[in-house]
Amino acid sequence: MARKTYTGPILDVSYDIDVCRHAARCVHGMPEVFDTHRKPWIDPEVADTPEKAQKLRDVVSACPTSALLIEEHSA
Ligand code: SF4
Repeated sequence: MARKTYTGPILDVSYDIDVCRHAARCVHGMPEVFDTHRKPWIDPEVADTPEKAQKLRDVVSACPTSALLIEEHSA
């Protein structure tokens, strides 16, 4: 299991390279979070407002595989 979690202020994003199809929908959907030229390539830190967090949820849910998952912070 290669799932890794990236932490942000409102929510975390986890990623499993083994199920990623490299369709790049995430990269096109929210390039400020998903940037394959950066390390780490997923940075949920920029999703620091409710609006940006919702956009991140939408982009993650558009992932054609379950490679990306949102991990909500518990209240
Ligand atoms: S959208 Fe999902 S399957 Fe496509 S590159 Fe991103 S993580 Fe991988």
